[in-house]
Amino acid sequence: MTVPRVIDVVPELVSELQRLLTERGEPALAAQVAQLRIIDRCRCGDHFCSTFYTAPRPTGAFGPGHRTIALVPETGYLNVDVVGYDIVQIELLYRDDLKAKIHAAMP
Ligand SMILES: [Zn+2]
Repeated sequence: MTVPRVIDVVPELVSELQRLLTERGEPALAAQVAQLRIIDRCRCGDHFCSTFYTAPRPTGAFGPGHRTIALVPETGYLNVDVVGYDIVQIELLYRDDLKAKIHAAMP
C-alpha cells in the first residue's frame, strides 16, 4: 500500500500550511510540510471533517510533548498537532475544497 504525500494530494494545502506556519513563527514546522505523508485519516464520519494523520495514529491521546497550533485559515478550521518536533496530525474541518481529494487518496 502506498502512503501518499500531502503535496501530491493537496498541494494547495501545503502552500497554505507553509505560509500560515511561517507567519506564526514556526519555520521549522513549515519546512516539514512538503515531506508529510497521509498515514491515515480521521474516521469520525462527520461530513465536514477532513482531518488526517501524518504519523501513526496513537491509541488514545497523543503522548507527552503534544501541542496544538491553531492556525487562522481564510476558510474553515485548520490546526496542526505536533509531538516534539514532528507534525503528527492536521485537523482540517469545513474544507470541502480539499475533502474529496483527501478521501480519494485515503479511502
Ligand atoms: Zn473527523
